[in-house]
Amino acid sequence: MAENNNNNLSEIMSSEQLQHTENITNTATATHDPSILNIVIIGGGMAGLSVVLELFSKPTTLLQKKNKKQRRASRHNNDSNSSENGDNGDKFQEKSIQVTLLEKKDYYEYVPCALRCMVNPSQYPDVSCSLVQFQNDLMTRYYRKYPTQEGRKMFKVITNCQVTGLNTEKQQVNYDMIESEESQKHYAIPYDYLIVATGAGYSAPYIKADWDKDNHSASREKSLRELYDRLLSPNNKHIVVVGGGSVGCELVGELNDLKKKNKRSDLKITLVHGQDILLERCGQRTHNYVNKFMQHNDVTVMLNDRVIPSDDHDYSKDLDPDVTKVFSTKSGKQLNDVTMIFWCTNSKPRTSWIEGSGLALSDRKTVAINKTLQSISHPNVFSVGDCNDFDCEKSGANAHFQGELLGRTLLAILASKKDEPSLPEYKAMGTFAQNISLGAKDGAFAMGSRVVLWGRLSAAAKDKINYYAGIKPFKHP
Ligand SMILES: Cc1cc2nc3c(=O)[nH]c(=O)nc-3n(C[C@H](O)[C@H](O)[C@H](O)COP(=O)(O)OP(=O)(O)OC[C@H]3O[C@@H](n4cnc5c(N)ncnc54)[C@H](O)[C@@H]3O)c2cc1C
Repeated sequence: MAENNNNNLSEIMSSEQLQHTENITNTATATHDPSILNIVIIGGGMAGLSVVLELFSKPTTLLQKKNKKQRRASRHNNDSNSSENGDNGDKFQEKSIQVTLLEKKDYYEYVPCALRCMVNPSQYPDVSCSLVQFQNDLMTRYYRKYPTQEGRKMFKVITNCQVTGLNTEKQQVNYDMIESEESQKHYAIPYDYLIVATGAGYSAPYIKADWDKDNHSASREKSLRELYDRLLSPNNKHIVVVGGGSVGCELVGELNDLKKKNKRSDLKITLVHGQDILLERCGQRTHNYVNKFMQHNDVTVMLNDRVIPSDDHDYSKDLDPDVTKVFSTKSGKQLNDVTMIFWCTNSKPRTSWIEGSGLALSDRKTVAINKTLQSISHPNVFSVGDCNDFDCEKSGANAHFQGELLGRTLLAILASKKDEPSLPEYKAMGTFAQNISLGAKDGAFAMGSRVVLWGRLSAAAKDKINYYAGIKPFKHP
């Protein structure tokens, strides 16, 4: 099936999928097929895809053993039934494994490069890829490498689908297909193991793909191009960035590049931060380096202050350079001439669809998990990435390594004969490490309280990390 049927893979998978998914208007009930073990992953970001890649990096051990046994049995002309019934006693040996990824968008975006794409929108195609293509490539590679697994472990991506609810008693996930003729219908998919990898959203648009509009990479690219035109509008005179964490500081770095490249010395940039140092989690030395960068590039930094939007503030005009906005700050200052404002604070986990399901959430509404990434309330539910409450920095590195560990955990569960095998624990990096880019050619790589690389070296190190993540180098200004 691997090579020849590659083009038909998604159709084959989808008809198979539909056997397990009933749809009826308003409510949906999933049918559990006992011959299939369903692993459902929600969210096709860094965390979700790392789980998939790890799960398909190896065959499922006992299934492979069974295949060897079957081959041996047929070589000796044994009765095929006796080999099919098997005698090694593992609990999943008679099941096919169906891994299904549900994702609202039809593409994957490498989020760490999103800010650079705001000022280089033409390079957006280099930081995103089609999820159906990802599915087909993965399965082709996997079946070519492990032909005995054909039809036993399968992967299916369902894109343009928004997960809307969870029923932990029936072990099913409810979702709607968006932007299709079927949009009035509701669907459900059963799970034996569920992985929640839905990430977090920002209040400022463009930092991540727009939740309502950007379901296709072409529309995301179009939005970024529109933003680019607005940033360069002659009416755009003063950009305010709220929040001096990593996203806020990196955004100022990119805007500074745009300003220089387009010789817009008239464009003023202000960074407002609520703490007394920038990037407070990285410590004083990183602040000193980044603050010096800001001063050197005429960025006004307001520390220990907050921008207060008026009660009737119209957020839809935040990025309209033709509307001049007025803001007061907590310390009593006035920002009278703001043409664009980015709120880079308050990322919120995308878990509203879980509420009321009985799955444990923390006070911040992140999925409450233990060290094995397992829900504290439901042991067959796991969570990875920005949407869980694991005590570590919400970073791509942690999302990726949590996903990898969970992939290995699931392979171990599938191969284990025990009902409750002991699972490995996730250990976040001992030292806090963050490479903050300040435009394409500057940055500060913080390790603990020290800055270990800075300037062009830090920028080159970040380019290298992006390169290993499969991102082509950006054309630097
Ligand atoms: C601007 C920016 C720069 C960054 N730079 C760095 C960096 O340099 N280094 C670093 O290590 N980290 C960086 N990070 C952090 C890093 O990008 C995140 O930690 C990482 O992307 C988290 O991955 P995730 O898979 O948990 O979530 P996400 O990437 O947010 O993926 C979650 C996915 O779930 C989907 N989803 C959500 N809800 C639903 C639903 N109900 N139904 C269907 N699908 C749903 C979303 O569409 C999304 O695709 C940066 C973050 C930002 C915003």
